This record gives sequence, structure tokens and C-alpha cells, in this order.
Amino acid sequence: MLDLVLRNARLLGREGATLDIGVANGTIGEIAPRIASDAPQEDAAGRLVMPGFVETHIHLDKSCILDRCASKDGTLQEAITQVARAKRDFTEDDIYARGRRTLEKAISHGTTRMRTHVEVDPRIGLKSFEAVRRLKRDYAWAIDLEICVFPQEGLLNDPGTEELLIAACEAGADLIGGCPYTDSDPHGQIARIFGLAQRFDLDIDFHLDFDLDASHMNLGEVCRQTTAHRYGGRVAVGHVTKLSALLGEKLDETARQLADAGVAVTVLPATDLFLMGRGHDHNVPRGVTPAHRMVAHGVTCSVATNNVLNPFTPFGDCSLVRMANLYANIAQAGTPRELAACFDLVTSLPAKLMNLTDYGIAVGNPADLVVLDNIGPGEAVAEISPPLLGFKRGRRSFVRASPILFPPV
Ligand SMILES: [Zn+2]
Repeated sequence: MLDLVLRNARLLGREGATLDIGVANGTIGEIAPRIASDAPQEDAAGRLVMPGFVETHIHLDKSCILDRCASKDGTLQEAITQVARAKRDFTEDDIYARGRRTLEKAISHGTTRMRTHVEVDPRIGLKSFEAVRRLKRDYAWAIDLEICVFPQEGLLNDPGTEELLIAACEAGADLIGGCPYTDSDPHGQIARIFGLAQRFDLDIDFHLDFDLDASHMNLGEVCRQTTAHRYGGRVAVGHVTKLSALLGEKLDETARQLADAGVAVTVLPATDLFLMGRGHDHNVPRGVTPAHRMVAHGVTCSVATNNVLNPFTPFGDCSLVRMANLYANIAQAGTPRELAACFDLVTSLPAKLMNLTDYGIAVGNPADLVVLDNIGPGEAVAEISPPLLGFKRGRRSFVRASPILFPPV
């Protein structure tokens, strides 16, 4: 017995005729050219149906605070200082309300899985963690939210932070992150985070570095610790803007090192473009790591949103297809093959980064189904195709109306 049939869907990797998708109890029960059923039905009309976008790196807790900040220089240091100041007045309800606004945008743009980074330190305590936990519970009907707790302002230099990270891990944080570039002892922090991750059996996601000086990198230490802890496939690093400053040959060598160690990379084009190269008054460097080039060497990479409407990134609509398009523009990825690779950077690759074993349109997986207004992944990136309709575990979660033109009759 089916609860829903989504008809005439075009599926990735199954070129040719369209297929029907049958849903039972929130799960994909059947995929076939024509399903005979009296269940309620929707018509995808030959459009691309995919399992939703996957966001690996966003900050719900500090989104939508531009009205509380007074940024002038647009530098990383200014953003950290401004947010640290605003954070002093955050309340749990305030974090929930802002996070909700951001999360609802992501849902309406077809995101069905998300990892959010949440700050923990003695000033904010566990307020952000508690608020985001409520969001995770209240929006489970539309999105699976994973919480990564991390010390944005440092760990070894910030007494009391480690105890709070431990409390969050004991209370059910899904994974742990680090931010070595704000620590007085970056390698010490990396070692401490690996220790905590192992203690609680959690994956790790670092905010690794955030400048364009490639003469010194913490990436080698992360790879070394990953191997030493047998943590390959469980570690991701975000930003890593230093990689964008490497010569091509050195970048390829580093990519092979990351692939061998099993360390994944998340690139955050909007924030990196906004904050990097502020010392230049012309020929401003982009500061965006070429993710698709690293994928070719076997590195698991994703492109993600990071910050929304705050001093780190005063933009954002939480659309991952738009972010993939932005990345394609910066990375000069314009061939059909490159554009399709950019689609992978916001879908299957981030799912792999997050070790999601039930992502994809296949019998037995959750019926997470998003209909895009076109027929192919490369075109979706090129045209920033809006998701028109989405289901989470077989239940309709959003609809986005198509524009209507009125030519003279
Ligand atoms: Zn971040």
C-alpha cells in the first residue's frame, strides 16, 4: 500500500524515460516506469527530482544580527569582535527566533539535511546549543539537523570552554568542531578536539584557517592526527582559504594528502569572497579554494553557506543551488561536466562528508524528494533553478510557486 506516488520524475544517473516514485510510510517503496496505484499523486512533469540539498556548514545561532553590529572594515578580526560583542546579549529565545528565520529559508530552497555549527564558550554558555536543539526537534518534519559544537573564540586560551564542550557532548551534540586559528596553541587545540571526539565517538569538523598565507598550514597536523586516531572519513575542515593561495602543483599534492588521510573539505564562497583580500585595493584575490579540482584527486568536498546576514557575510538566502552557481562563477567552472560537478558539491558529496548512508533516491531510503524546475543538474546550477516542491519522509514540506507572465492578448 502506497501513501503517495510522484509521477514522471527525471532521476540523476537514470537517463532516458521518466520514472514514478512510490512512497510508503515515509520511505521510498518502489521506483518504476509506471506504478499502478490509487494513492494520492503529484506530477513532476519530466522535471529533475533529487533528494534535497545538503548543507554541511552554516551558523544558525549567529545569523540575522546585522542590525546589532557596526562593521566598517569588513575584516575577519572585525567580524569576530562584532559577533562576540553581540553574542553577550543573545537569549535562548532570540537565538531560536533568528535560527528559525534562517532555517525556514533553507527548507524553502530545498535543503533536507543540514549540519549547523554552534558556538560554546563561557560567555554564551549552552544557550545557543539549547536553542538549536529546540530547532532540531521542532523542524524535524522538514529537515534533519546535525549540531556541531565548537569553540569559536579559542579553547586552550579560554578557561571553562572545554567543560562546556564536554557538557554539550554529554547532552547529545552530534559532533565536535575546533577553531585552531583563534587559539593561542593551534596544534594543542587540534589534539584536544581529537581527544574529545574519540571519548564521545563523534565526527569532527574544524574551522581550520582563514587567511591567504600558505607558508604555514595546520592542515598537515590535522591529517597526521586523523591517521594517528584512525579517524579517516570522519574529519572535515572548513574555509581552508590558505589552499586557494597554493601554486597548482602544491594544491594537487595537498589534495592527494587529504584524500589519503580521509579528510574532507568544505568551501564557503560567500564568506571567503567577502572577508579575504581586504588589504588589496585592486586585483583583489578571491580566497576561494577550488573544490572541484580537489574532488578530481579523490577529496570529499562540499560547498556551503556558512554565515547569513551577519558581519562575516552580510548576504544570504540559504539557497544551495545559488551557492553552487556562485562557486561556479568564481571557479570558472562552465563546461557541462564542470557544472554537473558543482551540483554534486551541494548534494551527493556533502552527504558523503556527513556520512549519511540513507541519502539518495533509492528503494528503502527516506522519501526526501525535491522537484527542481529543469531537467538536468548542470542546468540547475547554471540557471539557479528554484526548487518547486519538496517532500520530507513522504510528507509535503514546501511549495514554491512558479512565476506567471501575462503577455497582451
Ligand atoms: Zn563557519
